[in-house]
Amino acid sequence: MVKVVVLSGGVGGARFLLGLKAALGLPPIGPPASEPPSEPTDRRSNTGEHDISAVVNTGDDIWVHGLRICPDLDTCMYTLGGGVDIDRGWGRADESWVVKAELAGYGADPDWFGLGDRDLATHLIRTRMLHEGYPLSVVTAALCTRWRPGVRLLPATDDRCETHVVVTDSQGLRAMHFQEWWIRHGAALPVSEFVQIGADDAQPAAGVQEAIAEADAVLLAPSNPVVSIGSMLAIPAIRRALRSTTARVIGLSPIVGGRAMRGMAETCLATIGVRCEAGAVAEHYGARVAGGILDGWLVHTGDAATVPGLEVREVPLLMTDIAATAAMATAALDLAGLAV
Ligand code: GDP
Ligand code: CA
Repeated sequence: MVKVVVLSGGVGGARFLLGLKAALGLPPIGPPASEPPSEPTDRRSNTGEHDISAVVNTGDDIWVHGLRICPDLDTCMYTLGGGVDIDRGWGRADESWVVKAELAGYGADPDWFGLGDRDLATHLIRTRMLHEGYPLSVVTAALCTRWRPGVRLLPATDDRCETHVVVTDSQGLRAMHFQEWWIRHGAALPVSEFVQIGADDAQPAAGVQEAIAEADAVLLAPSNPVVSIGSMLAIPAIRRALRSTTARVIGLSPIVGGRAMRGMAETCLATIGVRCEAGAVAEHYGARVAGGILDGWLVHTGDAATVPGLEVREVPLLMTDIAATAAMATAALDLAGLAV
C-alpha cells in the first residue's frame, strides 16, 4: 500500500486527483451516490489498497447569505463523487438557479455569487453542522459519506483563514475578499497584494500534519500557486510539515508554455512578482535543501526549470483526459521514488 498526500485547489486539483486515482488502480469516480455503499469499505474514505489524502485549500471560503461556502472542497467532492457539472468544472450537474433569481428579486446582496439550488443543500448542511460546533474537517467527512470521493478530503485548516486582496479602484486603496475580486470583478481590478487573513494563527485541520508526516509521497497538484497552494503554505505548520516529512515532495507545474491553462494564475503570479513560467514557479516554491518545500518538479514537454537542489523532469502535463492525467500522476510518483 502506498500513502499519497496531494495539496489541492479546486478545478485543477480535482482533475489531477481523478488521474491519481486511476494511476493507483482505483476507480476515478466512485459508485453513484444513489447506490448503497458496498460492505465492508463503506465507512472508509479510501477503497482499494492505496490511500490518498487531499489537503484542500480553504482560502477561498466565504460566508454568503449566512451560509458557509467552501468552493475548493466542494469542487473536489463533487468531481470525485461524480456530481460535478463537467463543462463548468465546478458546482452540481443539472443545476437550477431558482433561489438565486428569488434572491435577486429581493435585491439581496451579494448578487454576484452563484448559489445553485442543488449546491445549496450542501451549504445548508455544512452551515448547520458548523453552527452546532463541528469543525469543518468533521463536516467535510460527513458530506463525503454521500459522495464517497475515494480520497480523504481534508480541509487545510478548520480555522477561519481567508484570502483577501488589496485593490485600487475609484474608491482608492481597499481590501476585499478574494471571491469578490475573482468573481464579481473578473480579477480585473489592479491588485497590489494577497493577504491570508488569519494564516499566522491557523492550525492545520485534524489529520493534515499526520498525513504529511506518514506519506510515502507528497504531491503539489497543478493548482494556482498563489491562491490555492500559496494560501496553504501561508499556514506555518503546513509549511513545516512539508519541510520535515521523510516523503519526497513533488510539484506539477500549472504553468504550461508560459501560460496558465485556466483561471487567472497569470494575474496572481504577477502580483507576487513571479514570472508566469514553470521555472519561476519552481524557484518561488524553492528546493527543500535550500529552505523551500520541493524535492522534484515536473514541467511540460519543452518547458524548463533550473533550481539548485531540485530534480526536474519534462513530461506532458495536459490534463486532456483521465489517461493523460494518470500518466502525469505516475510520473510524479516515479519522481517521488514510488513505482506503482
Ligand atoms: P481553482 O481553485 O478552481 O482555481 O483550481 P486550482 O487552483 O486547483 O487549479 C487552477 C490551475 O490549474 C490553473 O492555474 C491552471 O494553470 C491549472 N491547470 C488547469 N488545467 C491544467 C492542465 O491541463 N495542465 C496543467 N499543468 N495545469 C492545469
Ligand atoms: Ca479555488
